[in-house]
Amino acid sequence: MEISFAGKRALVTGAGKGIGRATALALARCGAKVTAVTRTQADLNSLLQECASITPVCVDLADWGATEVALQDVGPIDLLVNNAACANLQPFLEVTPEQFDQSFSVNVKAVLHVSQIAARGMKARGSGGSIVNVSSQASQCALRDHAVYCATKGALDMLTKVMALELGPHQIRVNSVNPTVVMTEMGRLGWSDPEKAKVMTSRIPLGRFAEVEDVVNSILFLLSDKSNMTNGVTLPVDGGFLAC
Ligand code: NDP
Repeated sequence: MEISFAGKRALVTGAGKGIGRATALALARCGAKVTAVTRTQADLNSLLQECASITPVCVDLADWGATEVALQDVGPIDLLVNNAACANLQPFLEVTPEQFDQSFSVNVKAVLHVSQIAARGMKARGSGGSIVNVSSQASQCALRDHAVYCATKGALDMLTKVMALELGPHQIRVNSVNPTVVMTEMGRLGWSDPEKAKVMTSRIPLGRFAEVEDVVNSILFLLSDKSNMTNGVTLPVDGGFLAC
């Protein structure tokens, strides 16, 4: 299946590393004009070395005001990928208010904010658009030490559905991908222990973690007009984990 984003303008958050970086590069390869948002300048520098056409924006998305300023000049956006997130893992009884607030600020509040900025423009132009939120299997299944992370991704799934409901009449589709473990920097934090990893893979019918490309391909599909009638779904990219 050929997917082209020629003439489209895309914004990807958390584009410095992992899934977000691969998504930004894939979108650029498919012809989109890409704005990459992340908070570490060195990651943006190396991204630009890989793909000079990408526009970098360096901001901490946990900061609402700084995000407003940083994104004021990005111009029209047709495709948005809300990918940035943090995973502060700790036992439920040890969760602190600071960790809770940080996680919800990035994983939920910034998604709402960046989506408002992009969708206001899409609505005003009347040209529609597509938004993909990067959620997780953790939104629907309890994982040890993931109380706050699971809660943020559960909230994100519901945000996706309400956005789909309210933005649909403006031909703005909103969906999420919900991957299983991917061995990025974030994935390694929680799943480097081979014993733990074995327990998780044994619960995945396909018997393996997801590759970055598996997630990127699903994101591209949901952004593209190949999924024109798909709106408000939370698409597992989990080898069947959530089905069992
Ligand atoms: P990584 O940690 O590899 O990359 C996350 C990126 O987001 C980094 O570039 C990071 O920048 C950026 N980011 C984090 N916080 C902020 C912030 N406050 N402001 C701006 N940028 C920020 O994560 P993954 O690629 O693994 O994860 C991408 C998405 O996939 C996330 O939504 C995650 O929840 C989801 N996911 C991941 C899974 C996994 O196993 N890896 C499984 C299921 C879902 P910096 O490094 O500078 O902090």
